[in-house]
Parts: sequence; C-alpha cells; structure tokens
Amino acid sequence: MAAARRFAFPLFALAALGLAALPVPDFWITQGIYIGLYALVALGLVLLTGVAGLTSFGQAAFVGVGAYTAAALVVKLSLSPWLALLVGIALAVAAALVLGAITLRMSGHYLPLATIAWGLALNYTMANMDWLGKYDGILGVPELRLFGRDLGTGRGLYALVWVIALAAAWGCANLLDSRPGRAIRAVKDGSTMAEAMGVSTFRYKLVVFVLAAVLAAVSGWLFAFFQRTVNPSPFSIAKGIEYLFVAVLGGVSHVWGAFLGAGVVRIVEDQLQVLLPRLFGASGNYETIVFGIVLVIVLKYAPDGLWSFAGRLLPRADRKRDWEGAPALPARDKPARGEPLLQVEAVRKQFGGLTAVNDVSFDIRAGDIVGLIGPNGAGKSTTFNLITGVLSLSAGQVRWRGEAIGGLPSREIARRGISRTFQHVKMIPEMTVLENVALGGYLRSSSGTLRAMLRLDREEERRLFAEAERQLARIGMADRMNELAGNLALGPQRLMEIARALCTDPALLLLDEPAAGLRHKEKQALADVLRQLKAEGMSLLLVEHDMEFVMGLTDRIVVMEFGTRLMEGTPAEVQASPEVRAAYLGTEH
Ligand code: ADP
Ligand code: MG
Repeated sequence: MAAARRFAFPLFALAALGLAALPVPDFWITQGIYIGLYALVALGLVLLTGVAGLTSFGQAAFVGVGAYTAAALVVKLSLSPWLALLVGIALAVAAALVLGAITLRMSGHYLPLATIAWGLALNYTMANMDWLGKYDGILGVPELRLFGRDLGTGRGLYALVWVIALAAAWGCANLLDSRPGRAIRAVKDGSTMAEAMGVSTFRYKLVVFVLAAVLAAVSGWLFAFFQRTVNPSPFSIAKGIEYLFVAVLGGVSHVWGAFLGAGVVRIVEDQLQVLLPRLFGASGNYETIVFGIVLVIVLKYAPDGLWSFAGRLLPRADRKRDWEGAPALPARDKPARGEPLLQVEAVRKQFGGLTAVNDVSFDIRAGDIVGLIGPNGAGKSTTFNLITGVLSLSAGQVRWRGEAIGGLPSREIARRGISRTFQHVKMIPEMTVLENVALGGYLRSSSGTLRAMLRLDREEERRLFAEAERQLARIGMADRMNELAGNLALGPQRLMEIARALCTDPALLLLDEPAAGLRHKEKQALADVLRQLKAEGMSLLLVEHDMEFVMGLTDRIVVMEFGTRLMEGTPAEVQASPEVRAAYLGTEH
C-alpha cells in the first residue's frame, strides 16, 4: 500500500506530461496550461498560507512582475526570454524581501494588508506607465524558443509549463520534508517553540514569502508567452483573491491541493463563464459571485480543502527507516561537573501591575538537579520564560557560564546549550513524533532551503533521524515514532517534548511539570531517565507538583510563592520548613 504513495507522484507526472502526446483536443491543452499556471502560484500559497499561516492577496502582482518583465524586456529591448526570466525572478525576490522585511515581524494581519496595498499599487503602476503600455499593455510577445524550435502556445508550451510546475511541486514537497521544512511548519502555531529550538521564525517567514513570489513570477513569465500579450487586468487584486481561492479550495496545506484546486477552479470557471450569462441573460463576471459563495461553504464544511478528501484515498507511508548506522550529529563540549553554569540574579517580570516574578535569585552548577516548586501562580513558568528568553526581563540578569544572556532572543540562548519543555505542550500536531523530535536537532544541522528542495540533504537527514530515534528510545517511546504527535495522550506528548529537548544536546535542561498527566509507571520511568541524565552529567531545573517525585530526585529545591523566593535548601530542609507548609496549605485552601 505504501508503494501506492511512492508511485503517486511519478504516475501523476507521467499522466500530466503524456497528455501533450495524446490526441487530446486543443481546448483541453489550453485548459491544462491554465491549470499548470494557476497551480504554480497556488503552490506558493500552500507554503505561505497553508503551511506557514501567512495570508497573501497579492500573488497576482508577483505574477504581473514576471509577465511584464518578460514582455518589456523581450518586446521593447529584444532581450532573451531566459534573461527576462532571471530579471523577473530577481525583481520578485527584491519586492518580496522589501515587503516581507517590513511586515513579517509584525503580527498576523499586517501581511495581508500589505499584500493588498502592494497588489493595488503595482496594478496602478502597470495601468498608468506609458512605457508599459497603460491599459493596453504590451502586444506582440513572440513565441518562446527552446532547443531551436518554437514552443508555440499549444502542446509545446503545455509541456514546458508542466515540467516546471511538476518540478516546483517536487521541490516544495521535498522542502516540507526537511530540516528547513520542519522549521517552516513550526512557524504557524509554534513560533515560541521553534525559537526555543534555535529557529529564526522571521527568517523562514521571509524564505517562504520570497519562494511564493518566485513561483508566481515564473507563472507570470510563462503566461506572457502563452497570451503573447500582457495587460494589467490578469494581475488585479481580484485575481489575487482567486489564487487564494484556488489554494484554499484545493487544500491549502497540501502540495497536491494546489493542483486539485487549480484544476477544479479553471474548469468550473470556464463552464460558468458560458453558463451564467445565459442563465442571467446578461454578460458579466458572475463566476466571481459563485466562487465567493463556494469559498464560504468550503471554509465552513471542509476547511482543509478538497485534498483532505482525495488524500485520504492514499495511504500514509511511514518514513523508511534508512538511518541505521548514520554518524552521530556534532555534540557540544560539556561543562565539567561543579562548574558554575547558570546564575539567576534578582530577575523580575512585571505584567502591567502584576509582579509575576519578584527579584528571584538562584544558581545552578553543572551536574545539579534543582527543583523549582511553589503553588500555582507562584511564577515558576514565568521564571523559566525569563531564563530561556521567551519573555524579556523587567529587571535583573541571567548569566550562563559567566556571560550575561538576559535580553538575548531565545534561539540564541538555545544555541548556548539551554533547552526546555513547556508546561502547555508545544508541538506540531500534524507532524509525526519523530519529526517533532528531529526539530530539536535543528541547531546541530545546517541544510538550507535550496539544498532541501533539491533533495541534497538526505545524509544529514539520516543523522537527524538517527538522533531523534535515539532520544525517543531513551524515554521509551521509539515504538511510537511514526504516530502523529497530535494523536498522543498528554503524558506521551510531554515525554516527546523531553526527547526533543534532549535532541538539542543541552548542557542544562529545564522541564516544566514533566510528570503532569503521566501514569504512576510512566512517572517512575521518567524519574529513571532523569537519574540517568544526571549520571551522565546533565544539569536539570525541574518544576513539578508531585512532591514525592521532586523530593526523590533533586539535590536542591527553590521554593517560590507570589513571585518571590520563599526559601532554598535540600529536599529535607524544604520538607521540614514551616513556611513552605504554610505557603502550600495557605493557597490550597
Ligand atoms: P506558575 O508557573 O508558578 O504556576 P506562572 O509563572 O505561570 O505561575 O504565573 C505567575 C503569574 O503571572 C500568574 O498570576 C499568572 O496569571 C501571571 N502571568 C503569567 N504569564 C502572564 C502573561 N503573559 N501576561 C500576564 N500575566 C501573566
Ligand atoms: Mg507553571
């Protein structure tokens, strides 16, 4: 059954390309070209909107950049179409970098607004510049020549469009299944987690935005040689919305959704353009209204798009276990036992009027297991967030092996060897357990976007997966590595987070309530793992409510209450302290 999935792509490619050689009516070849062109743009939206959660209404403008560059350079300056392709891509990259750099650091809705503004501005420019022919555009684009023959606007061009579209799909599918791909998949819901694993989420947002712009520009370049003329109307905001519709209808987080959406929209659009004016007895773009209604229905009843139904027909293939014997990932030099590691110096965090953490100090030496306990709301998780750079300090300082790290972004702190889990599990539910854990190896690997798209990253992937499996085996979860993380119960999800944190090769591990939701046996197994880590020289800071668990495991305990440090001592001292008892009894009542 898994073979069905492995051969799905080659079979689809063969069918799509083979169409050009069969006696298919020209009408369908033309439709096929449109579908390929739409799919190229929609592929970019799959990455951008579906996977990374960034919405763009302005893709049509990037298509316009590719098309106008082709027409202007080839018709007006008699340059080679292939040079025009490079220039078009360069312009799209430049525009995307500028737009992205301005908007992608801001929260969610600035990007869609910026893409609308960009779409309108570009369309206005195209329609008003004399050199670009204003509303008439540029006429007389020649046929594209390849290997000394004209491709025409039929079968030859069809073949080129589909070779490019299929290559792009292959690259995008490769990308999603790679080190940068896992980072991109973490951007949508898991920025905090991804940053804590060392990922610059801003960088990957920019990468997908640029990639989507390039795919759109390539589609536009092909479009110019297909239409043999360019004018502003196919690059309007309305068209930008239609591209988004194609992606959403097809299934915005699946590469194949782009093709399905493109096919359905193109064919239905064509039928409606004939049917609707007859029905209403007048001409007009009625199909836009129908698409609007359909979009609302799809978003309500099939928010994952049509591909979520079609995709179910194909079995999910487990990742082939091909990493046996892969060389280990690079590991960091570990601090010597007893070396001062972490100094938390009077850290404070204020949320408006609330002081969640109030001048808390404590130290951790290499090899220590320190417990951080206190009633709910005492400020333990906030302290974790201050140490790991998830939250900024209101006052105080954190030192790591002597270096002040307060104010560094959390990915920089991760790079120095501090890793963590989260009280509320943060993961990518639609990725497998193994892939989630492999994200922890991000900083120990280096494959970039291009390498991944071209599938030149397999050696390193083997090393990453070998490490991920090793860490999963360590916490007793290797047999569940192919399950989707979102399908696990809370306890195993917490264990998976620990494996992911271990995958970063940390010198200090911060665990926020690791035993919550675990059954008794699982707790014992976890305690064994933590003891083993200690024996290996790992340092641990542990928030936990289960007193038996904490008392049996830690060397020292810091007790917090209402944001302040109540006391610090050995488990025995803490247990004997009347203040600690009072704090717990006082709030539990
Ligand atoms: P603990 O982990 O010890 O249970 P927390 O550190 O989560 O406690 O929370 C400490 C206090 O800070 C609580 O009163 C909580 O409501 C508040 N708090 C935590 N995070 C935020 C935030 N992002 N914004 C405002 N208040 C917060
Ligand atoms: Mg907490």
